[in-house]
Amino acid sequence: MATQFITKVRVEGAPVPSRHEHIAAVMLRTGIIEARSTVISRIRLGDQYYTAASPPALVYVHACPFCGARDYITTHPDQTATNNLLRLPRF
Ligand SMILES: [Zn+2]
Repeated sequence: MATQFITKVRVEGAPVPSRHEHIAAVMLRTGIIEARSTVISRIRLGDQYYTAASPPALVYVHACPFCGARDYITTHPDQTATNNLLRLPRF
């Protein structure tokens, strides 16, 4: 099992039913870019992904709270909102 740190995210708009964003791809600390589908596959195989933030936030697969899409990745909101996936720099 590997542990990866995500430094940047690419988002895509999801217009229905309310405008919101899905993570489309991530850039790892190594510079490698992985599609969301790859991240989901690897999480399901046991790899762990964290945001490269302080403190790091664990990334997990969860149905989108806005549209129910099942291939959605997110982080638990916590007291430090700046470590969430959607708060990382974009690329
Ligand atoms: Zn959604």
